Amino acid sequence: MIMSRKKRQLQSNVPARAAARYWRATLSRDARADGTFVLAVRSTHIYCRPSCPARRPLRHNVVFFRTGAEAEQQGFRACLRCRPNEVAGAVALVENAARELAQSSEDSVRFSVLAAKLRTTPATLRRAFLQTTGLRPRELAAALRLTRFKKMLRDGKSIADALYETGYGSTSRVYERSDAQLGMTPATYRKGGKNMKIGYTITKSSLGKILVAATERGVSAVYLGDADAKLVEELHSEYPRAEITTASDSFERWVKEIVQRLEGNPPRLELPLDLQATAFQRRVWQELQRIPRGSTRTYSQVAKALGRPKAVRAVARACATNPVSIVVPCHRVIREDGSLAGYRWGLSRKQRLLAQESAVASR
Ligand SMILES: [Zn+2]
Repeated sequence: MIMSRKKRQLQSNVPARAAARYWRATLSRDARADGTFVLAVRSTHIYCRPSCPARRPLRHNVVFFRTGAEAEQQGFRACLRCRPNEVAGAVALVENAARELAQSSEDSVRFSVLAAKLRTTPATLRRAFLQTTGLRPRELAAALRLTRFKKMLRDGKSIADALYETGYGSTSRVYERSDAQLGMTPATYRKGGKNMKIGYTITKSSLGKILVAATERGVSAVYLGDADAKLVEELHSEYPRAEITTASDSFERWVKEIVQRLEGNPPRLELPLDLQATAFQRRVWQELQRIPRGSTRTYSQVAKALGRPKAVRAVARACATNPVSIVVPCHRVIREDGSLAGYRWGLSRKQRLLAQESAVASR
């Protein structure tokens, strides 16, 4: 009797679909989800924010709550590492900062003043910005001086979009031309592919089946595999809220381009991308596009190139979550010891891709 009552108490009122989304955010430690829910761990009676750096618990031990207060009502205690009950989540903090900036009539805002207004420290606010927008302090300071940036916020743009469109963070280098570099369309912070209309097509290649999916703005997914159904399923789970249909032949040129790159050939066509990405993922993916065909980099080399030498694991995660294989050549990143590390589409494919590229490059 007591047991069943206890069990019922632990039920959260988060619907199953939201819980699935929360679990994905938990696995990727998505800081953008901070403040939207907490995860409570049955085995430890502790609750965390989604971005908590602690080890991920087993799914069946996790209960989600919208707020820390609800978790505490059920007897959970706040985690001492991520302090979900204290500091507002990084995203909430950045959103509040955006609101402040938009309201301020001054053209230039001092960072310390902004932090004080939000009742936090400059260091915490800086970390929150870096986490959610990928901006370093100097870039951030420049953005805060920018009238146009503030006008965009006033017009209701999200801070990520406004930063993107004013050319900060990951974006300014995007349109530099080089063989390996490609344009990305402006920031898509649409979670789950919301409002995206995606068409896909599946064709054969020397590495098996290849699925290419795109919106009218650019390529959104490039998957490799053996079974059509599995590839399509993958697409739906990457973009659960998108409208997905089989494509007309409108992007046949893109498909051809991708297939010929897959065979190890140099880029012939610029491929626009339409992706959902955090600022950090975007930076990693752009860096990967600079790795020349026929060569490889290690995860720590990529982290160093980004000016974030300690972010090796985050780089590895960004590689693992790259939705556009080939176009963003995550297969060119290997372990420090020269071994291939993982590949979302199978190690043997990674091996063959690299072999093909070095063969064609040395011709
Ligand atoms: Zn925690």
